[in-house]
Amino acid sequence: MKLNSGQLPWESTFKDRPSYPSLEGDLSCDCLIVGGGMGGAMMAYRLSLSGASAVLIDKREIAGGSSHANTGLLQIANDKSLTACINTFGEANGVLFYKLCKEALDNILDLPGKLDIDPQIIPRSSLLYASTPEDVPLLRQEHETLTAHGFHSEFWGADKVREHYSFSKPAALYSKGDAETNPFRTVHSLIHKAHSGGVRIYEHTRAIRYEYHADGVTCYTDRGSIFAKKVIFSMGYETQEMKKDRGAELINTYAIKTRPLAKLPKWHEQSLLWETARPYLYFRTTPEGCIIAGGKDEQLTDPERREVRVLSQCRQLLEEVEALFPEVKGVEAEYAWGAVFGTTRDGLPLIGPHPEYPHCYFIEGYGGNGTVYSMIAADLLADTLAGRERPELELFSLTRSAKPSPAPAVEA
Ligand SMILES: Cc1cc2nc3c(=O)[nH]c(=O)nc-3n(C[C@H](O)[C@H](O)[C@H](O)COP(=O)(O)OP(=O)(O)OC[C@H]3O[C@@H](n4cnc5c(N)ncnc54)[C@H](O)[C@@H]3O)c2cc1C
Repeated sequence: MKLNSGQLPWESTFKDRPSYPSLEGDLSCDCLIVGGGMGGAMMAYRLSLSGASAVLIDKREIAGGSSHANTGLLQIANDKSLTACINTFGEANGVLFYKLCKEALDNILDLPGKLDIDPQIIPRSSLLYASTPEDVPLLRQEHETLTAHGFHSEFWGADKVREHYSFSKPAALYSKGDAETNPFRTVHSLIHKAHSGGVRIYEHTRAIRYEYHADGVTCYTDRGSIFAKKVIFSMGYETQEMKKDRGAELINTYAIKTRPLAKLPKWHEQSLLWETARPYLYFRTTPEGCIIAGGKDEQLTDPERREVRVLSQCRQLLEEVEALFPEVKGVEAEYAWGAVFGTTRDGLPLIGPHPEYPHCYFIEGYGGNGTVYSMIAADLLADTLAGRERPELELFSLTRSAKPSPAPAVEA
C-alpha cells in the first residue's frame, strides 16, 4: 500500500539515525514483532525491559510507514469525547478508556529520561475550541463530564480565548497533561533502546506468509524464516491487506509544516489546538518555531490522485493557519504531505488476539491518538505475554460488537 505522498517532514530532522541489517537465514525467538512503526517500537521497548527473546522486522526502514507522516500531537482527549464514549460504551468503559489514555500519556512523558536518543517529547497544554456557537453547549457538557471524572479541564469563554490567542472563538476547553513529539525520532529512539536491550532488529525484511503450529508460528520472509512462540502484528493500516476488520475504515488526510518563523504568533503556551467540527483541523508548533497544521480529510483515493490533491488540500491548510493567526500572513509550507489514515466506527483502537490467528496479537492503533494507543497496546500486551491478565483488552477486542458491554473487572 502506498501510505504517504508529498514531502514528509521528519527524516531531515534525524539524518544520522541508526540503521539495521536485513535478515539473512533462519532464526527462532519467543516473540516476533512484525512492523517497526510506533506500535512495534513501543512493543519492542517494553519487551526489552523484561529481557524477552524478541525479534522485530520491517519491510521498509524503521519508521518508514505511517509513523513518518504522524504530526506528533499526543493527547488524553480523543476524537470521540468522553461524553460520547460514555453514551456508547457505558460510564465504566468510557471512563476506563480515558483513564488508559491518561496513563499512557504519563508513560510517554516519562520516556525521555529512559532513552539514549532524544525523542523530543515536550509537555504541552491543549485547546479544543468550538467551531461554531452551536457547539458551545457540547463543550460545556464535555467540560462537566471530564471534571466529574477527575480529568483536568477549564471552560474558557470567548473573552478568555481572545486574551490568549490571536483568534476569536465562541468558547474552548483548555486542558493540561498533553504533549508533542517528533514521532520519527521517538520510534528510532525506542527501537535503538530495545536493540541495546537485546531485541534483534531487521529492516527491509518482508513477512510474506505464516504457518501456524501447536507451539507457535513460522513466519516466512523474503530473507529467511523466523519461528516464534508468539507474534505481534503491528503493521499499521496495511494490516487491512492481511485481514479486513469490520469496524475499520481508511481515509486520506493531509498536513503541512511551515518554514521556521522569525517569531511565533500570539499562541498561549504553544498549546496543541483542535476544534469541535468533524472532520477537524489541528495545529501545533515545533521547537524550531514552525507551525504544523493537519486535517482536510477525504475519502480514500488511489495514491496518484492523492499525490495531486496534496497541493490543493495543503494550500487550504495554509489558509486556515492564516485565518487563525493573521500575523503570519504569507507564511510558506516547507513540507506538504498526504497520507492514508485509519479510523474505527466506534472510535476505539483494535488491540489483542483474533480467533483465526493462534498465538498472535494485533496492534491497530487506528484514530487520531495512534501514538497513545500504541503505548496502551504495548502495556497491555507486554503484561499478557508475561502471563498477567489484562481484562482491559476486552474493550479493544477485534471481534467486539458495537453494543455497550459490562465493564471488565480491573483491579484498582
Ligand atoms: C498525516 C497523519 C497525521 C497523524 N497525526 C497523528 C498525531 O498527531 N498523533 C498521533 O498519535 N497519531 C497521529 N497519526 C496516526 C499515527 O501516525 C499512527 O497511529 C501511527 O503512526 C501508527 O503506527 P503503526 O506502528 O501502527 O503503523 P506504521 O508506522 O505504518 O508501522 C507499521 C510498519 O509495518 C511495516 N509492515 C507492514 N507490513 C509488513 C510486512 N508484511 N512485513 C514487514 N513489515 C511490514 C510497515 O513497513 C510499517 O513500517 C497520524 C497519521 C497520519 C497519516
